[in-house]
Amino acid sequence: MPFKIVPRDSASDEGSGETVARPRYVKWFQLGAGTLRAVLRERRLEDRLPSGEDWYVCPLCLDSMFTVEELDTGELTVEHVPPRSLGGHAMVLTCRRCNNYAGSRWDAQAYRRRQFHEYLTGQSGRAETVTLDIGGVITRAELHLTGTSGFLIAETPKINNPANLAASAAHLDARAAAR
Ligand SMILES: [Zn+2]
Repeated sequence: MPFKIVPRDSASDEGSGETVARPRYVKWFQLGAGTLRAVLRERRLEDRLPSGEDWYVCPLCLDSMFTVEELDTGELTVEHVPPRSLGGHAMVLTCRRCNNYAGSRWDAQAYRRRQFHEYLTGQSGRAETVTLDIGGVITRAELHLTGTSGFLIAETPKINNPANLAASAAHLDARAAAR
């Protein structure tokens, strides 16, 4: 049977090709489908499931039901926990929509957080871009670490409105003069 597992990026799962990974995902599907059936049976709701097939429900939204064939269409997807970009592993099957949502929100936030942590602990050499609020004037700046405990914040002309740079400089000058 031809099949296609569609993870968020194209790298193969934990070094194994899709042909190796699929039986594992089918096992997860069967586990989820069996649990769903058992829960519904316990509540005498089993007849709500279309008969003759196993059904898997997305555990995040409880909104979408899938047959095992939908592993092949990309509608039932493999979610990595923590995100794959942080070295996470395939953990659970979710619907494509939840997987995309997790990718764009939670994963991106977690990745950004780690990047910033690496930066602050000196594991990454590049400057971080930060947002400054000086007297209510918002500008973008680069944060450079200097030595082990100091840092330098430099507003970047290229990515700021010149009027905002002038206004924030004037605000800092006024603060310094008031001392
Ligand atoms: Zn979902």
